Amino acid sequence: MFLDSHCHLTSPELAVDFDGVLERALANGVTGFLNIGDNIESSQAACVQAAQAQQKGITVWATAGVHPQHALEYNDQSAGTTEALFALAKNPLIRAIGEIGLDFVYDDQHPQYPGASREVQADVLRQQLEIAITLSLPVVIHNREADEALLAIIKDYSSQLPGGVFHCFGSPLEIARRVLDLGFHLGFTGLVTFKNAEAVREVAKFCPLDRLLIETDAPYLAPVPYRGKTNEPSYLPRVAETVASLHNLEVQEIAAITTHNAMQLFHLDEKQAEI
Ligand SMILES: [Zn+2]
Ligand SMILES: [Zn+2]
Repeated sequence: MFLDSHCHLTSPELAVDFDGVLERALANGVTGFLNIGDNIESSQAACVQAAQAQQKGITVWATAGVHPQHALEYNDQSAGTTEALFALAKNPLIRAIGEIGLDFVYDDQHPQYPGASREVQADVLRQQLEIAITLSLPVVIHNREADEALLAIIKDYSSQLPGGVFHCFGSPLEIARRVLDLGFHLGFTGLVTFKNAEAVREVAKFCPLDRLLIETDAPYLAPVPYRGKTNEPSYLPRVAETVASLHNLEVQEIAAITTHNAMQLFHLDEKQAEI
């Protein structure tokens, strides 16, 4: 049994065939899903999908957060983003704050994308880390080209946070060490299957088994041999196979270990009071 610790089932590509996406995943042994929100709207939609799936006995949980690419939406005070996140987190299907973080590819220096400045991204991240601490929820961290700035912020909060994951890990080994030292898990995507991703495989091999998570980040980053196609949770076993070979384990062992880790980190085995 595999658990996809990071997928975007609300993305248009996957939402259009929600039942089919879940059916194909289940047929491939992927039985748990953490459905990631990236702004208020998608976090609400992720909750609705999770509730629909849970009604059918499929274990989909959700997260709520504002992605750094949506940071400009956060500071729109009329939207009451902080209040909206607190309201969302009352839903027992919300198991983490995320994805939140820093994205220095899509900042205000980007030639086409009207991203938020690095300062605004940092401010939005800090506000959401404080929400996670108040609610005692783990965090799902997004990082693109922002290793040092991100670590400088995270270390101010890590001792108060109930853990979290640096998802889609692609930073150097030295950064992985520091992230692990702060008590975080590392999440590995289809990146580990890419031919030119030797450095990512080195980190996945180095990562202690009790800190290892696997994810698709679907609809993005389809693993080999599906590169270029829309990614979906049914492809997660390809990620698991690569990670298993790096640790000289059977794929079923990596499935069990990473599912256990995700269940513990996000408290997925706790019964919902009501759905
Ligand atoms: Zn991300
Ligand atoms: Zn994501």
